[in-house]
Amino acid sequence: MRAPLIFLILIILAVLALVGYNSGWFGGATAPGAGPATATNGTPSPPGVTTDPAAEPDEPVGDGGVEQLPDEAKAEPDADPVKTPDVPAAATFGHLPAGDLIPKSGSGYLDRTVWSPKLCFPFADDAFANSQVYGAGGGMGPKDHPGQCDPMNYTLPWRDNFCESRGYASPLCAVGKGHQGQDIRPATCKKDKHWVVAAEDGIITDVGTYTVTLTGEAAPHRVYRYLHMRMNQLAVKEGASVKAGDNLGKASNDFGGTPTTIHMHFEIRSGVAGTSTDGKPVVLHTFLPPYQSLVAAYDRKRAGQACH
Ligand SMILES: [Zn+2]
Repeated sequence: MRAPLIFLILIILAVLALVGYNSGWFGGATAPGAGPATATNGTPSPPGVTTDPAAEPDEPVGDGGVEQLPDEAKAEPDADPVKTPDVPAAATFGHLPAGDLIPKSGSGYLDRTVWSPKLCFPFADDAFANSQVYGAGGGMGPKDHPGQCDPMNYTLPWRDNFCESRGYASPLCAVGKGHQGQDIRPATCKKDKHWVVAAEDGIITDVGTYTVTLTGEAAPHRVYRYLHMRMNQLAVKEGASVKAGDNLGKASNDFGGTPTTIHMHFEIRSGVAGTSTDGKPVVLHTFLPPYQSLVAAYDRKRAGQACH
């Protein structure tokens, strides 16, 4: 009679042990692969002992905290930290890309910054940006086009010549030297006729033998220099205050006695230090490529936008 009783006690102990194990009494509730305990593996706690709530079998495990709601996800930072050039709207007139010089005329550059975003186009009439020296009638021009009034000088497309070969310091050009500005021919091949105008509001800070310098009134105080106007017929004097679009003088070929074609050489120099779009440092008064600013300004002019 004792054997069945002992067997019954063993079964009861085994059941209590199994329930106790799965309730975390032994601290192994979630241990993978743990088989049911036997009566000989330990002493079960007495019935009625409160189990640890943290160890409830159906308690979510693994994330260690409150679930992150989908709308709490952090926004990704801008995936494109690279500074992108300030590209003007599509041009409505024919012009070659910035840096595309006449072959073998210079070094080119990579900067595409529109350095003077509100530039007033510096001619009152239409005009043609292209090379003076390498164009028809220029010192390095095509031999079969010897005259400066050749239609090729007064025809689209425009062409950049900022980094044309010269000995002048120009750090944004590939070889560190260049022409420092853009040559622009007036609407027709007639000198002392077509008005050159102020690029922005400012002060005429210098009048030289064949140069007129305008310093922008507003920050960043860009410096514009105009060459080859008819100097004895200027509309302004040194110290004059001008508004964007005001007449400065007429396009001509004054060059202190040196021969040149009828054109206006136009420069922009920085008013503050900065960095070009291709990462080159720009210090105060660095000569800046004006072509992109001129293209955008000419687009605005052709669209009928006034300078002020
Ligand atoms: Zn020039």
